[in-house]
Amino acid sequence: MARGTAPSKKAGGTPEAPGGSPPERLREILRILGETYPDARCELDFRTPLELLVATILSAQCTDARVNQVTASLFAKYRTAVDYASADPAVFENEIRSTGFFRNKAKNILACCAKLVREFGGAVPRTREELVALPGVGRKTANILLYNAYDIPGFGVDTHVGRVTNRLELVGTEDPERIETAICAILPAEEWGRATHLFIFHGRRTCHAKQPACAGCALRALCSWPGKR
Ligand code: SF4
Repeated sequence: MARGTAPSKKAGGTPEAPGGSPPERLREILRILGETYPDARCELDFRTPLELLVATILSAQCTDARVNQVTASLFAKYRTAVDYASADPAVFENEIRSTGFFRNKAKNILACCAKLVREFGGAVPRTREELVALPGVGRKTANILLYNAYDIPGFGVDTHVGRVTNRLELVGTEDPERIETAICAILPAEEWGRATHLFIFHGRRTCHAKQPACAGCALRALCSWPGKR
């Protein structure tokens, strides 16, 4: 969890949180975020599920803009899971170096694609269980991939989603899987994917970890985070 996040008391919101019951508050918050960020979407460039899988692994601890710079040439060279699986590790490390943690990311991407070739005929599977069994793929990546590549419901919890949902007292835990469970329990499945990107957009553009832009925040009246500025 990012610094500056005040733990709230329990999942689903607190009695004193402004804006009604947890489902009502969440609905109202998402309505406002939808008006504020009508273009909320995955900001990674991709054309296929495989490209999104690789881009999402590269995006750990890196900006989407940087990942998009790197993948512009990477995706021209590596077109299939076989291409990645047969890549020279040292060459591949160098190609993704600027995304940071490049040794670990290279190891995961090459191993992940080798498994895709071995077990899925080179295709990216469509179930959460199969995705999280791939090297370098956790629940966040799996959920973001399911929604954006296959239009299958998934609520991905990254650092922005964790921070924003805690500050707004929609959840009372810093554990990503518990946050996912708490939100998914009160939000219809068809809204999970869009909600993910609305929270990410809000975290990136307004509710920053260190200096949230509270004065201009559209959710100000619904937020009682003690650190509100
Ligand atoms: S008021 Fe500030 S802390 Fe609350 S949601 Fe908006 S930006 Fe975040």
